[in-house]
Amino acid sequence: MKKKIAVVTGGAGFLGSHLCDRLLADGCKVIAVDNLLTGSLRNVAHLKKNKDFDFLKKNISKPFSIAGKVDYILDFASPASPVDYLKYAIETLEVGSYGVHNCLELAKQKKARFLVASTSEIYGDPLEHPQKETYWGHVNTIGPRSVYDEAKRFGEAITMAYHRYHKVNTSIVRIFNTYGPRMQVKDGRVVPNFIDQALHNKPLTIYGDGKQTRSFCFYSDLIDGIVRLLYSGIHDPINIGNPKEFTMLEFAGLVLKLSGATSKIVYHPLPVDDPKQRQPDITLAKKHLKWEPKIRLEEGLKETLEWFKARRI
Ligand code: UDP
Repeated sequence: MKKKIAVVTGGAGFLGSHLCDRLLADGCKVIAVDNLLTGSLRNVAHLKKNKDFDFLKKNISKPFSIAGKVDYILDFASPASPVDYLKYAIETLEVGSYGVHNCLELAKQKKARFLVASTSEIYGDPLEHPQKETYWGHVNTIGPRSVYDEAKRFGEAITMAYHRYHKVNTSIVRIFNTYGPRMQVKDGRVVPNFIDQALHNKPLTIYGDGKQTRSFCFYSDLIDGIVRLLYSGIHDPINIGNPKEFTMLEFAGLVLKLSGATSKIVYHPLPVDDPKQRQPDITLAKKHLKWEPKIRLEEGLKETLEWFKARRI
């Protein structure tokens, strides 16, 4: 049988590169596309000699083409940490709008199954808890985070429009906080920040009072949910995340316990529009994809700590 061909945009990023690994393991040929704004070639260096893997340095916010047959397009290109998307505000808006549009055009032309990486951020600072896919969200359209949140909301809108008007075979995954090896140490998110601080015995920086919550999913669980969605025929958005919720204070305590660090905790101001709580309702993923996360935070965090330790300068 001929191998399926998958294009992964953002293929040199944290999640994109793990997706490349998984699709190759599933027997696909993979073309990773990335402009390396926040991605890194280090994440795909181990694939360089794989004859089923190809890397193209391209900015998908400009129209682009791929030669030959394409079966799957997975659009994972975007700065994803609050620090990165605030720094690259316009690029984030561009890749979430023009970028998704260009990928959809490619999917239409190739008759490929399209999957776009959406986010729990489309729920904003949610007034419904946990968040079901039916919740329309609570986003400040002009706040600093809107460059990411509104771009992702637009990405969902144009994806559904291509499905409705052009009959493109689309799918939308709403990704909740995910962590694991290949996160950038300096991307500013809470997981790499706390781990890096603990490994250097520096104070752990809690923003606000630390009572805000997040639900952390290990990357391997997330990737499994995503490929199940890819191989399904589902078009409506699906939440993929780990429903176990922690306050940032609890999370800091766990990082200290697992790392053995003696770091203090220091408090910094809460960033503007920082969501107070976040927890996915995964009823749909359980029902339609037979998916639920398997890795407990303690287990995934141990593996992530080891990875950060091994790469420490
Ligand atoms: N946060 C924190 N200390 C840090 C980095 C982040 O307390 O050093 C908080 C942040 O304000 C937010 C939560 O941790 O409430 C998760 O932040 P992250 O940037 O990881 O992702 P978000 O869920 O906000 O996109």
